[in-house]
Amino acid sequence: MPTACIGIGSNLGDRLQNCRKALKLLEQRGIRIKAVSGAHVTKPWGGREVAGQPDFINMAAVVETDLAPMKLLQTLFQVENEMGRVRVRKWGPRIIDLDILLYGGEIIDQPGLKVPHPLMHEREFVLMPLAEIAPEAVHPVFKKTVRQLLEELSV
Ligand code: ATP
Ligand code: CA
Ligand code: CA
Repeated sequence: MPTACIGIGSNLGDRLQNCRKALKLLEQRGIRIKAVSGAHVTKPWGGREVAGQPDFINMAAVVETDLAPMKLLQTLFQVENEMGRVRVRKWGPRIIDLDILLYGGEIIDQPGLKVPHPLMHEREFVLMPLAEIAPEAVHPVFKKTVRQLLEELSV
């Protein structure tokens, strides 16, 4: 069964509870949770666009699923919607954000779905939690492990 890595973030309400609830809802939809990182408190990312927003809790999960990438993304959207996420503006505050970071070793570039997530290698808040549970996962574009990408970020 394909393995995927999911990024989870929340900066509204009970942030930890929101992240946990999202995992539970994914599991209820048949997605197998293989590993979950710790919860990392992180500053909003995106410069002026995100100024004044509450800090995030970010986590990562390794999952197994038979869902093809686009179906998996739709399932993530369903969970976000069920939890009441409202998209107000780009990078606005959100009770839950679920992103596909990696899907096996696949490279996908479709309207609405880019895998690996196009900004994951630039984001400590993504790589830190992911490195806890999948340090050897390989980014198929850069051909580097999550651990290497994280190390390069802090240089
Ligand atoms: P960012 O993508 O910079 O983390 P965001 O998560 O706040 O920003 P959203 O508003 O949640 O952005 O999603 C915007 C769009 O990104 C979605 O409509 C979705 O189709 C698209 N998208 C493309 N690739 C991915 C991916 N790998 N995971 C999740 N969404 C993706
Ligand atoms: Ca995101
Ligand atoms: Ca998202």
